[in-house]
Amino acid sequence: MQAESSTAPSDLQTLQRQIQDLTELYNKLQNLRQIPSALLTSISNDMPFIGQTRPEFQRLKEIGEDIRSSPIQEALLRAQDSLKNDGTEINSNPRRENRRRRRPPSPASPQPYISKAALEPRAFPPAAGNVQALSAEELIGYVKEYNLENKTKLQIWRRTADEPKTDLPSLLRFTIPDVVTVYISIGYHGGHGTILVENMAAFAPREKKAPHLQSEYTVYQNLSQQFARVLHSHPNISFQSAMSLLCSYELLFVDQCVGCGRVLSVEGHVPPVVRLWKDGEEGRWEPRHLTCRRDQ
Ligand SMILES: [Zn+2]
Repeated sequence: MQAESSTAPSDLQTLQRQIQDLTELYNKLQNLRQIPSALLTSISNDMPFIGQTRPEFQRLKEIGEDIRSSPIQEALLRAQDSLKNDGTEINSNPRRENRRRRRPPSPASPQPYISKAALEPRAFPPAAGNVQALSAEELIGYVKEYNLENKTKLQIWRRTADEPKTDLPSLLRFTIPDVVTVYISIGYHGGHGTILVENMAAFAPREKKAPHLQSEYTVYQNLSQQFARVLHSHPNISFQSAMSLLCSYELLFVDQCVGCGRVLSVEGHVPPVVRLWKDGEEGRWEPRHLTCRRDQ
């Protein structure tokens, strides 16, 4: 029996191998989904580094070859046959299921189905259909209006007093009095100069540090790192969405973590620096500690 299995793999072994191959391929394809946005930002922000996108194209090519290889093709055919012969109609692909359910409801169905996935917290509120990404020429108006409507403050920031004024400012300063100061670095993309948020660096209210430096305090360092993570995974997020996120920190030192119910984390004694958007009738930002966060 043993001798037999060492020469020709049993059907069970082949099946296990094929399941493993397809799982690996699925994971690779999931990673691939990040490439288009990564390409866009690296091309628009850093033309000289365009060569850095070559590995991404190489990965695309390799995965294409993987898919065409005969072991994967055999595994896919077997999976297809298995699905055809399966009378249970249990769909093991939740992603496809959700996409189908999210189609706009027909007029005859007044109660749209809200899938469970839509209720999971996410990094940003779903963009309201009528909100356009902010463009360069709208920025000054947006800042003025923001300051009229809010207690927190948004300013176009010049690094030095003699830095000339420009139509395309690259730095803004957001202030929640006595809580946090955030320097927002922005860039511009496309013909209308759509604003891209490149970086957000958090500092203590009275900390006198240049925007490109790092705060001396752990909580603000953690906050800056959290911003970097969010912007890295959502490189094309609108300026308005970034502002919505920033405004959610007004009670940074008061808000309790929805994960553990504490203000200060057990480890490190840091307030909840993570914010995840929870959909609902109103929708709200939920504070979490770094250690209590779920995947974003
Ligand atoms: Zn917590």
